[in-house]
Amino acid sequence: MNDTKPDTVPEKCINCSAELTSPVVCSGCHTLYPLPQSVDYFGLLGLPRAYDLDESALEKRFLSVSRHIHPDYFGSASGEMQQLSVRLSAELNQAVKVLRQPVLRAGYLLELCGGPGPASDRTVPPEVLGETMMLREEIEEAQADEDHPALQRLRKTVEEKRAVLVERIAELARRLPNAAAEDKTALRHTLNAVKYYDNMLELLWEA
Ligand SMILES: [Zn+2]
Repeated sequence: MNDTKPDTVPEKCINCSAELTSPVVCSGCHTLYPLPQSVDYFGLLGLPRAYDLDESALEKRFLSVSRHIHPDYFGSASGEMQQLSVRLSAELNQAVKVLRQPVLRAGYLLELCGGPGPASDRTVPPEVLGETMMLREEIEEAQADEDHPALQRLRKTVEEKRAVLVERIAELARRLPNAAAEDKTALRHTLNAVKYYDNMLELLWEA
């Protein structure tokens, strides 16, 4: 088997002819299929491509698919199936990691819907730049003074401001896939802004 991905999902298992309920594994005979190019993380987990998702369905589907493709299961299978199971497990783990976290999920969905990625648009709203610059100065001062109550207050402030951005991200991401171009841009900029607060939180947790 080579590494190029097939374009489409087979409808029936080539081994036992059972209908495939997952794009990557036959639940009847455990034959594995490489993840097709046309299937995204939502499709891999059998979920609709949307920001709002049913978290319990996500976890259930994850457990069910990961059990069926787990490398332990293919110990006595062909080398090809063993390799495929390792690769699919890694893809599945990456998929669930992204879909579980609202900010990562919104960014992933934005790019699926043709929106700008973090490399092509690094813009951060100017008010965020001003605010984070001020907060950073306060953090550095408090760290220099070893002022722990101040650092605690700052951590709370940064967390609250980040939460406001995450709310905004949810609001914009819910408009996908048919969001207006300016909403997609605004979503990209808000996602970029969250990084600034994440970096500050990292500093504050080190303190
Ligand atoms: Zn089968």
